[in-house]
Amino acid sequence: MKTIKVSVVTPDGPVYESDVEMVSTKAKSGELGILPGHIPLVAPLAISAVRLKKDGKTEYIAVSGGFLEVRPDQVTVLAQSAEAATDIDVERALRAKERAEQRMRDHHAEHMDFRRAELALQRAINRLAVSEKKL
Ligand code: ATP
Repeated sequence: MKTIKVSVVTPDGPVYESDVEMVSTKAKSGELGILPGHIPLVAPLAISAVRLKKDGKTEYIAVSGGFLEVRPDQVTVLAQSAEAATDIDVERALRAKERAEQRMRDHHAEHMDFRRAELALQRAINRLAVSEKKL
């Protein structure tokens, strides 16, 4: 089976590196499925899961947006934060979700605060979904 090398990199360092059969991601323009030999591409990513198919199994990584760079033999995901499903602290994500929802209810202040809370909520919901692999 042909494979493609995947690296997921954050400001804290690499989170994942492996050779996989297929990479599925959610770009801002829609779902992308990448097989070995894909044409070169750069795309902004949504707060979403990166799904990696390897040896008939699927691994999930939560990413908080960022960029995807595709070359025929290599996929690089550059994200502000990224966590493999097994590294997600569910309690922490639940607390972050609560906090964000509270901020959205309380937002008498500026629009930016609401937007920031909305993004924090999306990150928390994405982490919870990835940890449960409900995708
Ligand atoms: P929190 O409010 O809980 O910090 P956040 O969405 O603001 O959540 P980020 O700024 O996206 O957090 O991430 C900060 C760092 O913490 C990153 O290294 C990220 O991987 C890690 N991180 C955040 N939430 C979790 C979680 N639930 N489980 C594991 N790591 C997490």
